[in-house]
Amino acid sequence: MRNKQVLEEMTPYKPGKQIDEVKKEYGLSRIVKLASNENPYGHSEHVDTYLAQAAIGYHFYPDGYTSELRKTVAKKWNVSESQLLFGNGTDEIIQMISRAFLYPGVNTVMATPTFPQYKHGAQIEGAEVEEIPLINGAHDLDGILEAIDDKTNIVWLCSPNNPTGCVIPRDDFYAFMDKCPSDVLVVLDEAYFEYVSGDVQPNVLDYLDNYDNLIVLRTFSKVYGLAGLRVGYGIANEPLIRRLDVVRGPFNTSSLAQKAASVAIGDDRFVEQSVSRNHAVKQSFEQFLDSIDWHYFESHTNFLLISTPVSGERTFRHLLENGFIVRAGEGIGVPNTIRVTIGNEADMEQLKEILHQMHLKLEKGQSL
Ligand SMILES: *Cc1c(COP(=O)(O)O)cnc(C)c1O
Repeated sequence: MRNKQVLEEMTPYKPGKQIDEVKKEYGLSRIVKLASNENPYGHSEHVDTYLAQAAIGYHFYPDGYTSELRKTVAKKWNVSESQLLFGNGTDEIIQMISRAFLYPGVNTVMATPTFPQYKHGAQIEGAEVEEIPLINGAHDLDGILEAIDDKTNIVWLCSPNNPTGCVIPRDDFYAFMDKCPSDVLVVLDEAYFEYVSGDVQPNVLDYLDNYDNLIVLRTFSKVYGLAGLRVGYGIANEPLIRRLDVVRGPFNTSSLAQKAASVAIGDDRFVEQSVSRNHAVKQSFEQFLDSIDWHYFESHTNFLLISTPVSGERTFRHLLENGFIVRAGEGIGVPNTIRVTIGNEADMEQLKEILHQMHLKLEKGQSL
C-alpha cells in the first residue's frame, strides 16, 4: 500500500493511563486522575437537568450548522455567527487548520514544548516544523518572528501554554501581530482562557476585526467540564472561517454534545466557582511546594508544571503506586518535571501528604 511515508516514522497519540487499568495493576481501590487538566468539579448541573428531560432524536444526523450552539456562543462573545467554526474538540479544529494550510514545501512555526497536536498535524501534511524553545516557560516571540520566512503558512501560539501554564502578555501579543506578515495565519490557542484573570489577559476577541490572519481557539473540555463530549471552536473573521469550513466534515459534532455545550455556556456561576476554587487550591498547593523547595512554573491554568528532585518518570511511578495519575515531563518534552492537574480540595491535601513523605525520604537519602 502507498500511504504517506511520514506515517511510518510517527506514532499514534499515547493516552494517559485509564483509571480502571491502574486500579487493577496496583491493586488500588481508589484512583485520582490529575493527568489531562479536566475540571475536578465536573460540569454544570444544568447540563444533567437538561439532558434528563431532553428528547434528542438520535436516529437523526446532528444539525450540521450547529445552529443553537452557534447562536449561544456568538452572543456570549459578541461575535457574528459567521465568525465561528465548531469541531469535535479543539483537536479537530487543529486538524482542519493543518489540513487547509499545510502541505509539502511550506513550514509552520511553534514553540517547544507546547501542545503536541500542532506538530502532529503538520507532520502528517508533510510541512516542515520549526520549533522555537520557550524562555523560562514562556513563548520567545522574537525568536518566532525571526523564524518566519516566505514559506511559513502558520504560527501556533498557545496562551496559556500547555505544559508550562505561562501566558503571552497581551501587549506582547499585539506587538507580535503587528510585526507578523499578514499572509501568515496565527493560531492563538486559548484552551484555558476562562482560568486567566482579566488583568493578565483581556479578551482578544474585542480586537479580532483588526486581524484577518488570526484564529482564536477555545474549548468546552477544560473549565466547562465536557471533555468526554468533544466540543471546541475557533473564532476568526468570516473569509477565514469560510475556507476552513470546506475542510470540516458535515456532521462533525454530535447532537448530544451540541445540546450540552449550549446549556453549559449559560452557567457562568459554575465557571466562576470552578475558577475560584481552582485558584485557592492551586495557591495552597504552591505554598506547600515552596515549603519543600520544589520549583514550578507560574501557571495561569488548572495545572502546574513542577520540577522534581528525581526524574519525572520516577516521580510519576511513585505517585501512581499511591493512587495518583499525573503526567511525567519526559513524555511532554520537559525532563525532570511532572505536570499535575489541580484537583479538588480533599484530593490535593492527600497529594501534599504523599509528596511530603516522598520529600522526607529523599532528604534522608532513602530510596522511594
Ligand atoms: C486540552 C487542550 C486542547 C484540546 O481540547 P479539546 O477541545 O478537548 O480537543 C487544545 N489545546 C490545549 C492547549 C489544550 O490543553
